[in-house]
Amino acid sequence: MSTPPSSATKVFKGVAASPGIAIGKAFVLEDMDLAVGRWQVPPEAVKAEVTRFRMAVAETRKEMLGTQQKILKFLGKSHARLIEAYLLILDDPLISKDVVKKITNARVNAEFALSEAVAGAVKALEAATDEYFRERRHDVLDVGRRVLLHLLGHTLQNLDDLKEPSVIVAHNLTPSDTIHMRTQFAEGFVTDIGGRTSHTAILANSLEIPAVVGLHEITRHVRPGDMIVVDGESATVIVNPVPDVIDNYRREREIRLSARRELDRLRDQPAQTVDGRRMTLAANIDSPEEMKSVLAHGAEGVGLYRTEFLYLNRGTPPTEETHFQHYARVAQSVLPYPIVIRTMDIGGDKLIDMGIARDHKAEPNPFLGLRGVRLSLKHPDLFRSQLRAILRASAVGKVKVMFPMISTLEEFRASKKMLEECRMELRKEGVAFDEKMEVGLMVEVPAAALAADTLAKEADFFSIGTNDLIQYTLAVDRVNDEVANLYNPLNPAILRLIDQTVKAGHKAGRWVGMCGEMAGDPALAAILVGLELDELSVSPPLVPQVKKTIRELSFADCQAATRDILDDPTEENIQKVLRQLKKN
Ligand code: PEP
Ligand code: MG
Repeated sequence: MSTPPSSATKVFKGVAASPGIAIGKAFVLEDMDLAVGRWQVPPEAVKAEVTRFRMAVAETRKEMLGTQQKILKFLGKSHARLIEAYLLILDDPLISKDVVKKITNARVNAEFALSEAVAGAVKALEAATDEYFRERRHDVLDVGRRVLLHLLGHTLQNLDDLKEPSVIVAHNLTPSDTIHMRTQFAEGFVTDIGGRTSHTAILANSLEIPAVVGLHEITRHVRPGDMIVVDGESATVIVNPVPDVIDNYRREREIRLSARRELDRLRDQPAQTVDGRRMTLAANIDSPEEMKSVLAHGAEGVGLYRTEFLYLNRGTPPTEETHFQHYARVAQSVLPYPIVIRTMDIGGDKLIDMGIARDHKAEPNPFLGLRGVRLSLKHPDLFRSQLRAILRASAVGKVKVMFPMISTLEEFRASKKMLEECRMELRKEGVAFDEKMEVGLMVEVPAAALAADTLAKEADFFSIGTNDLIQYTLAVDRVNDEVANLYNPLNPAILRLIDQTVKAGHKAGRWVGMCGEMAGDPALAAILVGLELDELSVSPPLVPQVKKTIRELSFADCQAATRDILDDPTEENIQKVLRQLKKN
């Protein structure tokens, strides 16, 4: 339970997830324990108990219809379909008839009858051979939970309930919650758990929502309506600050905003060092809507399009046509620059709410499980429709494709084989595509970095995914703030793997980019320049600052500093070298 409310000022330090300052009233999303008890209903009260249940169902329906209208307005038909599926479940006799029968025959309370009926339906779905039906158990559970909340007299607080600019306070948020914030009054968010490179944090960055995560017990110290200031840069959260502090933060926010506007003046300048080393500075996106931000901040193309978000909040996986519409739109809008489309990277912390047929609950270690290209190769039909769409989009823009989570040469070959089969089909069908479309892979598993020389012979390019490379090399869960102190991009093992990958790529004449969050940290830019990466791809709002930093560096100095660090990768030497570079 929450601690007693208090309006005294409290300051918390967490993990910086997304920069910017947010000021607003706390909107606390509570994790509710829905365990229900069983009790006997006297015969004369059975009718009233059935009515109570029917009213809870009616209330739930009303609530869902309201949500459907909002989603339709802000996100369009395809997202609203999710609610249609929920409404169908609500009407399913399996649930409503069973519950009424249980209340009447066994004379038990409605909550218990409902939880039994839901458990029965979930069990039946779990046993289905078709993965699509198995997957629907999550929807049934969610619907059951909503009805239960009405029976218990709670309403499920969700982001749709925001009525004024607010700071979301939650134990945890999923990537889909974060996407949802785009249409709401969410000024920023703070969570008990989470790491800097979790996908929730990455999305917050691209949506420019200030966020601090990994605050441990923030949900216990904030009550709804408390005033909150979130400083996403210093990872500070102030609960109930005095008015002067709020005013200072408001002023600071203005200063930072105008500094950012100033940086955007570099939009049309190249990312080039003072001694003429030119790098490509591209942007990472999760949806076509982010293209506006990519262009406004002056990125030279899209270095990583995380297509898995297309699978979010849908009952069924996207069709080839849906894939194509999205890819063609982005590929055209970024012209004359290229776009690197990454095939779906579902798995890890991108499990929940993906409308893909799979039994993700069964995996004890999702980050080490069926993720990325492993999952794609297991579902050839899904993979094929995505690959065909990417190929078709290559006819209307400068499209490149890459595969995530490659850990063996065989996986890369199998993915390329499937791509080749799609090419053959399209040729037969007379459908246009770019015969020379570049095919690369993400180097994000240590095995790929260590075998980069072999892979380089068969790949057109590498894109180093440091978010995962760090996690897998250092055995540090990227979403676990308890080990965030070990999540260090400057660990010598990481620098050596990057160096080795770049060298192997260059030796084979391939370009090598980096698209993990490490690429967007201006404090590390000198080392990335020194490591001779050809491209950095970063969250769109970070493009201007990274560009400014590169433009102030000397390539020769960066190379020398990087060699020094690789030769003596102790913490003291790294800090000394970085300080020295700053002075120059
Ligand atoms: C990475 O791992 O660095 C990467 C860019 O991919 P994602 O963050 O989507 O796992
Ligand atoms: Mg990754």
